[in-house]
Formats: sequence, C-alpha cells, structure tokens
Amino acid sequence: MNSMYMSLTNAPSKQASLTCKNISPLDSYFKRCQASKPQFTRIFFQVSKRKKRIVCQVNMSAQSTAGQVIRCKAAVAWEAGKPLVIEEVEVAPPQEMEVRLKILFTSLCHTDVYFWEAKGQTSLFPRIFGHEAGGIVESVGEGVTHLKPGDHVLPVFTGECGNCRHCKSKESNMCDLLRINTDRGVMLSDGKTRFSINGKPIYHFVGTSTFSEYTVAHVGSVAKINPAAPLDKVCILSCGISTGLGATLNVAKPTKGSTVAIFGLGAVGLAAAEGASIAGASRIIGVDLNPNRFEEAKKFGCTEFVNPKDHNKPVQEVLAEMTNGGVDRSVECTGNINAMISAFECVHDGWGVAVLVGVPNRDDAFKTHPVNFLNERTLKGTFFGNYKPRSDLPSVVEKYMNKELELEKFITQQVAFRDINKAFDYMLAGEGIRCIIRMDA
Ligand code: NAD
Ligand code: ZN
Repeated sequence: MNSMYMSLTNAPSKQASLTCKNISPLDSYFKRCQASKPQFTRIFFQVSKRKKRIVCQVNMSAQSTAGQVIRCKAAVAWEAGKPLVIEEVEVAPPQEMEVRLKILFTSLCHTDVYFWEAKGQTSLFPRIFGHEAGGIVESVGEGVTHLKPGDHVLPVFTGECGNCRHCKSKESNMCDLLRINTDRGVMLSDGKTRFSINGKPIYHFVGTSTFSEYTVAHVGSVAKINPAAPLDKVCILSCGISTGLGATLNVAKPTKGSTVAIFGLGAVGLAAAEGASIAGASRIIGVDLNPNRFEEAKKFGCTEFVNPKDHNKPVQEVLAEMTNGGVDRSVECTGNINAMISAFECVHDGWGVAVLVGVPNRDDAFKTHPVNFLNERTLKGTFFGNYKPRSDLPSVVEKYMNKELELEKFITQQVAFRDINKAFDYMLAGEGIRCIIRMDA
C-alpha cells in the first residue's frame, strides 16, 4: 500500500491512477492520505466490468505554494479616491487559525467605495479593498481543522469564532472576536499584514481584502459552501444579497399581506425587496433618488416607487399618506443619515419596525423626537442580515441551488480584474446592480 501512496505523491503529472481488484480498503486508505496530504484534492473510482481503477488527483499548485510566499496581482488603493493600481504583491503564508484563499470572482459593494473615498470614514492606505467574493482554499495555517485546500468558500466581512457569547446566542451574529472592524488593517494573530510590496506592508480591509488573486483571512471569516455552486454567481451572497435578504427575513420580519418600504434600490435594497416578496408582503414601496432604478426594481417585487426629489415635503409624510398612517416595515439600504431618519419615521405607530442597513459616515448622528418611540415604533439595525456567516451562509447558497433564490438578475456587469476601476465607475454613476470582477481575466 505504501508504495502505491509513494507513487502518487511523487506523481509528476496532476493525476495518477492505480488499477486493483478491490476498492474498499483503498478508499479508506486514500481518505486517510488526503487528511494528512491536503494536496490530494480529489479521489474517484472508475469501475469497469473487469478492472477497478482508483484515480487520485494531486493539486500541484497547492503542493508547490503551501508555506511559501506567493507573488500575485492585487488592486492596491494607494490614496483615497484615486484609481486602484494593479501591482505585484507578496502574500505571506497563513498563520495560526488563518487560511490563504485563491480568489476567483469578486464584486464591488458600496462599503468598499465609502472606505476608498474616505470622505466621512477613517482612512488607512495603502490598502487592498474587497469583501464580496468567492474562492478556493489554497493552504491553511496551524490549528485549522475544518477547512482544507480545495474547499470552495465565501469570505465574509464579519466572522464567527463559534465560541463567544454572541456566537453561542441564537439572536446575534456580532462575534466578539471577528465582528466587522473597518479600522483594523492587520491580522488578529500578530498585528501584521500578510500583504507587502518590497517589504512595505499593505493593509487589509474587513479581514477579507478580495481585490487580490490571493488573500489571507481568519478561518472564522470564511464560510465553506457546496463545491457545486457556481462561484461567479454565489460570490454576491458573501455580502450584499445576504445582507438585504436577511435584513428583511431575519430582522424586519414582515407578515403576509403587509406593506414594506425599501430605502435605496442598489443590490442590498433590491435583495431586501426580494425578501419582502418572499415573505408575502402585498405592497413593496421602493424609495430612491435615482429614478433609473425603478423599472429594474419591479423584477425584485417592488410595486410602487417614490422619489423624494419629486415632493416638497419629507418622504416619511408622503409614505404615511400613501399607506393610511405608515408602512408596517421599512428597510434602509442607502447609508444616508436623512434616509435613515425617514425610514424610521415612516413606519406606522403601534407596530411599525424600521431596520437600518446602510453604513453611515463616521460623524453622523441619528436625530428623531423620542415621542416617535413612545408611539410604539421600533428601530433596529443589522450587519449581514443577522446571518451567522459560517453557520447560515451555506444554507443561503443552497436556496440558490434549489432555485428558491435567483441571483442572475442582480448581476448586470462583468469586468476583467485589470479593469477593476470600471466597476467603481459603474457604482459611482449608479449604473447596474452588481458588477462581477473576474480574477482570471
Ligand atoms: P448602492 O450604491 O448600489 O445603492 C444605494 C442606493 O441608495 C442607490 O440607488 C442610491 O441612489 C440610493 N440612495 C442614496 N441616498 C439616498 C437617499 N437619501 N434616499 C433614497 N435613496 C438614496 O449600494 P449597495 O451596495 O446596495 O449598499 C447599500 C448600503 O448598504 C451602503 O450604505 C452599504 O455600505 C451598506 N451595506 C451594509 C451592510 C451591512 O451589513 N449592514 C452590508 C453591505 C452593504
Ligand atoms: Zn464569536
């Protein structure tokens, strides 16, 4: 048996095979080999009437790069608001409880743009942005047991350590260790970056930094998903779509027949509208300053539209008039403080619930009259739609696989990695919904 194993580990090609009569002892033997030699990414059998053949596929790239520094392309933001520059960066191997990922597809979310613009946000440069992505585990650091090279994964900007009070609570996804932190640009284990150019550190963003062919993440910020799921589609579940969907289904929880207002009809808001539609809301009112969004939003269940610019009174009053006193639920997906206040003040007294999703500027303050609360309105907020990334995201991917959730309609553009700045242009111009950035192009 050992000689067979040796011949496979030393195989010069990516695939090696053996012919034998009885497969079952080999099956368990190779599973054991795979556990100790993670570069064995696939083992399968070919059975014909007379011969049984075991084929072991060896991932040669993992074999040659694990434990080594990888040089690859990354889109580096050197300064606030300046186009990203494709640079050759060095990506250090993953340390304790970290994994190194090969990113295959990433997309742009408005949160990347805010921190890149750094107008009302903490600025930390040079930095590699990106947090909505899909990829494959290239190698794992010490102590990592539940991920191995070859696993298909979605990195998530807010993690799940699995051990803290939040991770153990059914109500929270605000992990003590790995919750979103937009100020930190280094890894938790040693306070250092894994990215560098000629020894100069390049900072991370929200523990994901997916605008790089390879990135390093804490194992708790990486969700393992069904390997059959197409990464060029499900990558958008790693932030925007799950966030919007969860904000409605897990937090606002509209009942069948209710009226829901969605502020902001970008990817997050449209996913929130989709959630309202899944929940059986009868009226879904889309609110946006960009009227180009309205036609598209019908595909996501929006039944009516309001452009605040068309009215000379606050939009919350317009909505109250349209709905006999206020909507049952509202979900704010703009990041604009005035929209946040309107989203709260437009819900019906007695039972209305508003959910804030948009990321505000650092100095924003939420101001409303306390009587709005006394009148029995509820204000909530959420990151990642209250989904626990590692525990819950795989089942959201399954919703797509089972055709309960359509993702294609969110994907309006695709660009090659070298053209990543075009994705920024589309978002700043309010064109399209999600733009997929292909790392191999
Ligand atoms: P997007 O730019 O694609 O969409 C935002 C939409 O809001 C645009 O259509 C814009 O015209 C509209 N808008 C802006 N100001 C408005 C106002 N005052 N009134 C009405 N509409 C207004 O952005 P996106 O990627 O869909 O993200 C939406 C927001 O959600 C951003 O603030 C983003 O940072 C945030 N976000 C939060 C989380 C979370 O976990 N909480 C996750 C992802 C994104
Ligand atoms: Zn935790």
